[in-house]
Amino acid sequence: MIKAKKSLGQNFLIDRSILEIIVNTTQIKNRTILEIGPGTGNLTSFIIKNNPKKLIVIEKDQYLANNLKNLFNNKLTIINDDILNINESLLFEDKVTVFGNLPYNISTEILSKWILNLKNDFWFDHLVLMFQKEVADRIIAKYNTQSYGRLTILSNWKLKIKKICDIKPASFSPKPKIDSSLLFFSPKRDFYKINDPKNLEKITRTFFNHRRKMLKKPFNILFKGDQRVLKKLKIDLNLRPQNLDTETYYKLANEYESLRG
Ligand code: SAH
Repeated sequence: MIKAKKSLGQNFLIDRSILEIIVNTTQIKNRTILEIGPGTGNLTSFIIKNNPKKLIVIEKDQYLANNLKNLFNNKLTIINDDILNINESLLFEDKVTVFGNLPYNISTEILSKWILNLKNDFWFDHLVLMFQKEVADRIIAKYNTQSYGRLTILSNWKLKIKKICDIKPASFSPKPKIDSSLLFFSPKRDFYKINDPKNLEKITRTFFNHRRKMLKKPFNILFKGDQRVLKKLKIDLNLRPQNLDTETYYKLANEYESLRG
């Protein structure tokens, strides 16, 4: 019996019907697959059954990585490392499909890192990722809602996102305290061009620093009250950050970049 390590966010998925749903979200046959945090290999064995061209897994836990080697031997390539240390865009020749029941404590960090590092040619065709439900809700939030914020704006910049299903704690061992959700991401072909993604981060950070306050103050900090930008983007400074849709934030990032030359 493998003892789960809390520090590595280990909640192993044991519900076969959910595993089935995950591998049926997209084509695996003849594709190169990357699995993040394969753990005890539950999802891994479902992926292998679907005949990928190649399967690469990244698992930080050395004990589990050795265990996977014994279980699946030459059917996969195991990278025993921290996903946050990996430059995924350099790892593959083909475009990959990514599966991951991500460790909850670093899931937003992984997603943000991938989006911020994306070049125009995506290194993946789909991401099939599990998040704690509260985080998934923030990723897919609509504007004018409580969950809407920085993570929504960043995630929807270059990715189309669809929720597949929610997953109850009983589908895992050990059971987490919270519900989870499975999200499906695909590249957007026509996203707003922002030269330096750090500017989008800066803008959303400044605007959402005070969620309940009016837009006036953050706008003045970033744009020195520039009336032209206000008119062009039809922004009412008496609104709050959550009242502006994602596109307005991408346009603001554009304006910010052109103002600073
Ligand atoms: N996918 C498996 C396990 C999910 S638990 C299943 O569904 O059953 C999360 C897994 O991610 C664990 O195996 C854990 O060891 C691994 N992990 C945690 N932090 C990691 C990191 N930084 N890089 C790579 N793997 C990590």
